[in-house]
Amino acid sequence: MNQTQLRIQGKDYDIYPEHGIRVVCMEHVEQELDEYVDKYEVAPDTFARADVEDAALTDTCMVCGAEGKIVLLHVKGNQG
Ligand SMILES: [Zn+2]
Repeated sequence: MNQTQLRIQGKDYDIYPEHGIRVVCMEHVEQELDEYVDKYEVAPDTFARADVEDAALTDTCMVCGAEGKIVLLHVKGNQG
């Protein structure tokens, strides 16, 4: 996935495509937060999966395959 923009709760957000997008279940949020920080050296922004309006984005946890609840990504500027 190499997107530069995502629509979240009706607003378009520019994101850092090189920092990746992770979808996880509640169980794996902490683990993926840690890995995101380790890998990209930034703390990701988190959104509810239901708020992210992107048909191409998976609905399942990228770690275990359970229902994806949280999306981790890095928003540019981060001013909403
Ligand atoms: Zn999981």
